[in-house]
Parts: sequence; structure tokens; C-alpha cells
Amino acid sequence: MGMNIHGEQVDCPLCGGTENIPLYREGSFEMVRCCSCQFIFLNPRPTSDSLYRFYQHYLPEEESSIESWKKMMRPIFHRAAHLLQPYSRGRRLLDVGTGFGFFLAEMKKRGWDVTGVEISQKAMDYARDVSGLDIRPGPLEKATFPNDYFNVVTGFYVIEHLPDPMNFFRECRRILKPGGLLLLRYPHTTPIKNLLQSFGIKNRLYDLPAHLSDFSPQTIEQGLKRAGFERCKHLIGGYTLPPELGKRVASLFFGGLSEAFFFLSRERFLFPGVSKTVLAFKGER
Ligand SMILES: [Zn+2]
Repeated sequence: MGMNIHGEQVDCPLCGGTENIPLYREGSFEMVRCCSCQFIFLNPRPTSDSLYRFYQHYLPEEESSIESWKKMMRPIFHRAAHLLQPYSRGRRLLDVGTGFGFFLAEMKKRGWDVTGVEISQKAMDYARDVSGLDIRPGPLEKATFPNDYFNVVTGFYVIEHLPDPMNFFRECRRILKPGGLLLLRYPHTTPIKNLLQSFGIKNRLYDLPAHLSDFSPQTIEQGLKRAGFERCKHLIGGYTLPPELGKRVASLFFGGLSEAFFFLSRERFLFPGVSKTVLAFKGER
């Protein structure tokens, strides 16, 4: 992180459980597993203040890195746009942690009425000035949107960065219209950690302390249901295209393989260790 980090001990951010067991250590950081709900999270973790300072420099700042980030995320955004197509009767969309606003720009082009929330000042300026988007300063709770307002809320690689995911789920549900849809994309790293561990391969895949947790389809569904979402659908939902050739080949290979398994198993088999997408629906009431 390159700056002073103040750590604090926390209870399970998903169920409030006070007992957890150590799972993996990366440098001076440790992921633990909650004994009651199995949620995997960083403990102790940086305080909200140190996190806020950290995110002012988290996204790339050079024009060329912004461009390659855009290329890397393009397949994910196209996939998500395609997934949202059947739900486009009402087109008011919010993207949380929108970064430079590339997903919003894509959705705007497709005729959606788009708003973003972003915590990094530089990214927010870029999204406003370069793409002319409506971006509010984060975190989401600070933006105080009205109840039952959006048809769709999205968050790409956001949930693993949040100190209080339950609060985030509840806030998303509050601002969604009845029948509205929340789409979240998140990494699912623990199965790969376990695999590499069994070969004795050291790695820093959890990306600590940037990531505060590692959701699985099971734990994310538990949290979403507890926050009042009615129904969840789990998907692979595409893969990134990193600028480095080796990583790109790996991403294409595992991404392609996992999509193939998902398709061949009639949408039942979710390949472990690759990023996942979950769709959660708010009840019609
Ligand atoms: Zn728990």
C-alpha cells in the first residue's frame, strides 16, 4: 500500500460472527474464515480512513494505462450489457465504483439513462470531462438516492473492496425499484489459492489489502438474501483481456474453459477460481 496502514480487528462483515480461523497470510496481512457463515475476509483490516486515502491512487493514472484497462474490461462490459438486455424495459441504471465510466459510456450508447458513483476524484473527473457522464462522489450511501429509483444497479469488482458489504446490499435494494436487478461481478480466488497451496506455490492472489474479502457464490447469495433480495442467478459472465500476453492467454483459456463447462452443464457448473457474476432480484412486493 506504500503508506501507513492502521489496522482494526473486525467481526464477520457478513453475519456478525465473532469467531474465525486463519486461512492464508500474504505479507503482513491475513485472510480468515468465519466459523458460522464461512465468509472469507481480511482481519485485521485497514480502517476506513486509510482505505479512502488508498483509493485516491488505486486506479491507473497514465493515459496509456487507462487505455489498456479499458481494453481489458471491454469483454466484461459487453457481456454485462448483453445480460441486461432482457431487463431493459425501464432503463434507469446506476453503476457503483464506476471508475473512468467505460461501462456507463457503453450503456449510454445503448440508450440507457445512466448515473455513476465513484470514490476516486481523478476517475470521477475523467468520467465527467471526457465522457460527459453524471457521476456522484462515493461511497454509495453518501449519494442518498431516493427509494425505488433505479431499474438496474451494477458493480464491477467493487464488493470485495467494501468494509461493510451488508450495508451495501441493503442500500442497493433500497434504491432499486420493485422487480429491479442488481448485477455484481467479483473475483473468486480461494479455490485457486487452495490449488496453488497444494503444489506449494507461493502467490499474492488475494491482492491484500486492496481486497477485504473473497466471496463465493454461496456466501454472496447468503448476504444478498439476508439483505432482502428475493432470487439470485449465478453466471461466469465473460473474462478480462489483460495487456500482458501471458495473462491474456491464461484469461482466455480459463475464461473459455469455464464458460464451456457452464454451458455444457446447462448452467449448473460454476468453474471454481474464476471471476463470477451474480444477478439478484428485488421482489415485486
Ligand atoms: Zn460470518
